[in-house]
Amino acid sequence: KRRAAAELAQLPAITTDGVEVHVGANVASIDDAAAAVRAGADLFGLVRTEFLFLGRADAPSVTEQEQVYRELAKTLDGRRIILRTLDVGGDKPLPYVTQAPEANPFLGERGIRLALAHPDLLRDQLRAIAAVAAEYPVSVMFPMVTTVEEVRAARALLKEVAPQPLALEVGIMVEVPAAAAKAAVLAQHVDFFSIGTNDLTQYAMAVDRGNDTVATLADPLDPGVLRLIDLVCRGAGRARVAVCGEIAADPVAVPILLGLGVTELSVAAPVVPLIKARVRELDHAACAAAAVRALSCESAAEVRALVDARTSASA
Ligand code: PEP
Ligand code: MG
Repeated sequence: KRRAAAELAQLPAITTDGVEVHVGANVASIDDAAAAVRAGADLFGLVRTEFLFLGRADAPSVTEQEQVYRELAKTLDGRRIILRTLDVGGDKPLPYVTQAPEANPFLGERGIRLALAHPDLLRDQLRAIAAVAAEYPVSVMFPMVTTVEEVRAARALLKEVAPQPLALEVGIMVEVPAAAAKAAVLAQHVDFFSIGTNDLTQYAMAVDRGNDTVATLADPLDPGVLRLIDLVCRGAGRARVAVCGEIAADPVAVPILLGLGVTELSVAAPVVPLIKARVRELDHAACAAAAVRALSCESAAEVRALVDARTSASA
């Protein structure tokens, strides 16, 4: 029986009406990568490369990064890995990156802002990513993007270190409400979006993601957040839309996300089989109907009540 479950996990996740959903794993170490493969991940939807940069006195060299990215890609044996460029800032300082003290680090120089302020760091990372992209299907993704200008600047650095055309897809995380609202323009500059609902919810609901006192307000199923996700899906055009925030691992949220137009989910490795199983019991057309209703709900609680996680019905 256990063997059957393990085999099932390796199969694609397809809804009852034939829509395939890619279920990937979020990875923050080589161990995570191995666990993700065992769990049947279709891809690594989010590699948090911070693990290579934190807790050390100097930045990792291009060679060191290249080795780690190559090992990750090798582990997944030909399936796609999405490497997110360094996503740190005032809340996660690095000894080798100088930053002015900030009163509000979550509203300060973090993610792509910090990377663009330290282009040598980003160039080295892009060099390592580009080298591995010549051998394996690798995508690069920039975190905390707010403006088209940031995408242009990041792509210009990529072009600088890898002038030849590369089979390297470029995407951005959608974590800032303004970026969600501008999805249609941002889509002209990227191959895919990955919605980081942890940060998107923090910024949309004005709730510090580490503050327990107001944590109950920070529900990504709040219709205000869902409307932002809807804007991303409707603005995306040919760009793929994924969700890699924690909400992707919530069986109640899955039908709503799929119904809004998300085609890829990325979750912690141990949850991959569960989310694949959830997709297989859903009817995509019913998900779309539920999503429309969810957008007009008053609260996250009402959205949750719409979805009965225990049955195959999603509306
Ligand atoms: C997110 O913000 O939803 C996300 C996936 O990124 P992180 O949790 O690493 O900030
Ligand atoms: Mg984030």
